Amino acid sequence: MSDEGQGMHIAVYPGSFDPITNGHLDVIERARHLFGRLIVAVAVDAGKQHLFDVAERVAMAQEACRDMPQVQVDSFEGLVVEYARSRGAVAIVKGLRAVSDFEREMQMAMMNRCLAPELHTVFLVAHTEYTFLSSSLVKEVARLGGDIEDLVPAVVCRCLREKYGIPQL
Ligand code: ADP
Repeated sequence: MSDEGQGMHIAVYPGSFDPITNGHLDVIERARHLFGRLIVAVAVDAGKQHLFDVAERVAMAQEACRDMPQVQVDSFEGLVVEYARSRGAVAIVKGLRAVSDFEREMQMAMMNRCLAPELHTVFLVAHTEYTFLSSSLVKEVARLGGDIEDLVPAVVCRCLREKYGIPQL
């Protein structure tokens, strides 16, 4: 698979990205080289409570992926498989942190195979450095004034401080 031109494969990496963390970026970094093109797909999911609205989540992900030419950030509503099909993707990429992720992700992958047998789900195992990292934990630590600089891209650090009224460094 080449990074550009013919023969490249499109993969979709779906999630809430509320906000994007270094754990997500590690998955993106590896997936963009495995596939020729990666679409980071930010779920609108109106049924979920998000700290950042979809436009903010997309903007932060775009800024974080600015220097990755194979990566595009988009938002989507509805079924991941329908979105992936509409973009001509061959695969859905998911990150696995721990056994706790596995059960839920496996169930979802099987359901997605039922819905769209032609789409592959590809699991990338989280870097050991980031297995503990989740968007919700980052938000919690930031809200309580903890240091999150090594856990998220700079843009997210700025946005979280702004959201929680914490002075910028
Ligand atoms: P969360 O599961 O924290 O709410 P998302 O819904 O945005 O986050 O997650 C999108 C995808 O990224 C999922 O496949 C999830 O397992 C994966 N992911 C989240 N955090 C990490 C991490 N630290 N390392 C690897 N993958 C991760």
